[in-house]
Amino acid sequence: MLIDGHGRTVDYLRISVTERCNFRCQYCMPEKPFSWVPKENLLTFEELFLFVKVAIDGGVTKIRLTGGEPLLREDLDSFIAMINNYKEGLDLALTTNAFLLPDAAQRLKDAGLKRLNISLDSLKPDVAAKIAGKDVLKQVFKGIDKALEVGLKVKINMVPLKGINDDEILDIMEYCRERNMKVRFIEYMENAHADQALKGMHGREILDKVKEKYTIKALGREGASPSFNYLIEEMNYEFGLIDPHKHDFCESCNRIRLTAEGNLIPCLYFDEALSIAESVKKGDIEGAADVLARVLKDKPKENRWSEEEIEDREISKRAFYETGG
Ligand code: SAM
Ligand code: SF4
Repeated sequence: MLIDGHGRTVDYLRISVTERCNFRCQYCMPEKPFSWVPKENLLTFEELFLFVKVAIDGGVTKIRLTGGEPLLREDLDSFIAMINNYKEGLDLALTTNAFLLPDAAQRLKDAGLKRLNISLDSLKPDVAAKIAGKDVLKQVFKGIDKALEVGLKVKINMVPLKGINDDEILDIMEYCRERNMKVRFIEYMENAHADQALKGMHGREILDKVKEKYTIKALGREGASPSFNYLIEEMNYEFGLIDPHKHDFCESCNRIRLTAEGNLIPCLYFDEALSIAESVKKGDIEGAADVLARVLKDKPKENRWSEEEIEDREISKRAFYETGG
C-alpha cells in the first residue's frame, strides 16, 4: 500500500501522456506555450510503463491517461493494452476533449478501455468555439456519440465560467441525462497560464442554478473522489460537483500525477516535482520506487485554492495541460 506523509492512502495515478493540445481552452492553454517539452524529452510508452508497474505493484488500482490531449499521442491504444494486460481489475480511464474520438473510440475500446471523461463546456457552437479557440462542437458531439455507440462509459466534465457558459448548466445536465451520462461541474481553478480575465463560478453558485429548477439532495463524496454527488429528486439523476476551493477537498486526496517527461507531481497546485526519467531510462526499478516514496513523503496536506482570500495567495504556476488536470 502507498501511504503519504499525512497518512492518506494513494492508489490513483494520473499520467499526462503529452502536454500538446489541439484546443486552446481559455482556462488551460489560451495560447500556444512559449516552449513545448522537446519531443526527445518525452518518455516512451515502454519507459512510462516501467513506472506504471512500480506504481501498480506498490498499490495503485486506478490509472487515468490525460494530457494535453492524450489522443494526439500516436499508439495510445497500445499503451492502454499494455497497462490493461498487466493487472486484471485495474480501473483504467481516459480524459479527452473528444475531437479525435470519432476515429479512435473503437480502437480504445478494443485495447481494453472502459471509461472516458469528456470535456464539454457548451452546447452552443459559438460559445464552444470561444472557449476552445476554434470551431469544435460538431466534432465533439460526434466523438461523444461514437464513444457511446462502441460501449464506452462516458462522464462529462464542464467548467462553468461567469458570463460565458453559466447559463448552460441545466442544458448540459439535460443533454447528459438524455444520454445516460453523469455530468461533473468543475470549479474553475485559477492558474498563471489561463486567461486572467476569467471568472469561475463557485460551487454554491453552480448549485443555486440547479436549485432554480430542481430539488437536490446531497449524497456525499464517493470514496476518495474529489466529486461531491447530488441527486435531482424529480429526475432521479445524479450529478457531481468538483470543488477544490472547499476545505474538505484535500482530506482524502489519493492521487499523484506523472507528466510526459517523467515529473512526478504530488499536488496539482504546487510546482514541486521529482523526476523518474533517469531511473526509467536505465530500467532502474528500485530508483523509480525510491522517487515515488520521496514524492509521497512530501505530498502537501492541501492545495491553496481552498484559502479564503484569493487576493492574498500566489496564483498556481502549474499548467493544467502539463499535469493533465
Ligand atoms: N484535453 C483533455 C480534456 O480537455 O479533457 C484532457 C486534459 S484537461 C487538462 C483535463 C481536465 O482539466 C478537463 O476536464 C478540463 O476541463 C480541466 N481543466 C483544465 N484547466 C482547468 C482549470 N483551470 N480549472 C478547472 N478545470 C480545468
Ligand atoms: Fe487542451 Fe484539455 Fe487544456 Fe482544453 S483543457 S486546452 S482540451 S488540455
